[in-house]
Amino acid sequence: MEHLDEGWDRALAIVAHPDDMEYGAAAAVARWTAQGKQVAYVIATSGEAGIDGMDPATAARVRRREQVTAAAAVGVEHVTFLGLPDGVVEYSVALRRLLAEQIRRHRPDVVLTTTHHLTFGDRQLNQADHRHVALATYDAVKDAGNRWIHPDLTHAGLEPHAGVRSVLVFGSGSPTHAVDVTDHLDAGVASLRAHATYLAGLGREFDPEAFLSSMTSEPGRAVGRPHAVAFEQLSAVGV
Ligand SMILES: [Zn+2]
Repeated sequence: MEHLDEGWDRALAIVAHPDDMEYGAAAAVARWTAQGKQVAYVIATSGEAGIDGMDPATAARVRRREQVTAAAAVGVEHVTFLGLPDGVVEYSVALRRLLAEQIRRHRPDVVLTTTHHLTFGDRQLNQADHRHVALATYDAVKDAGNRWIHPDLTHAGLEPHAGVRSVLVFGSGSPTHAVDVTDHLDAGVASLRAHATYLAGLGREFDPEAFLSSMTSEPGRAVGRPHAVAFEQLSAVGV
């Protein structure tokens, strides 16, 4: 792995659930916002199916609130919830259109998302919403730059945005780049702790600090730093 090029200004993270950013990527976001970069989040669902002992309507409110707090802990002010149904998000042209709309609104240089692969490279099954949102994100990056795809967006005044240079995928079993988060791990831990109700609802012991410290140590070793977050960088330049 090599150090990620940070010669860009605006990032948009597109993920399925409240908490997806906080299992690692948020520590890198903390570094970037500290550098003065603009980072915004788009969360496809409200995570309402995520707490076994809580009815979905209540869980949606709680999890949106916890996500906004988590984002603020790493310097992110703009969080958009698309309100899609948690657990049963489908890959579709309609989802591509929704995400292309967000990309045209935010006009990022880089887009972040989770891996679309069946596993995280460790035989642990990935979840369907993650896979579908990731695939639609890749396609929406392309759609956003073409005025003839989803033409209603253009008619509504959202001009094409072909400025996304790369997609940074976290949770990938084939990471290519690392971001040194040694000085930002605390912010990352705070962002994960912000999902307090969700974590309490897991019904098992979970230590955010130990978890994030552990998951960032191996990428850190790869680039000679105590802690780093690994990404697979996909180029979005060209057709
Ligand atoms: Zn998730």
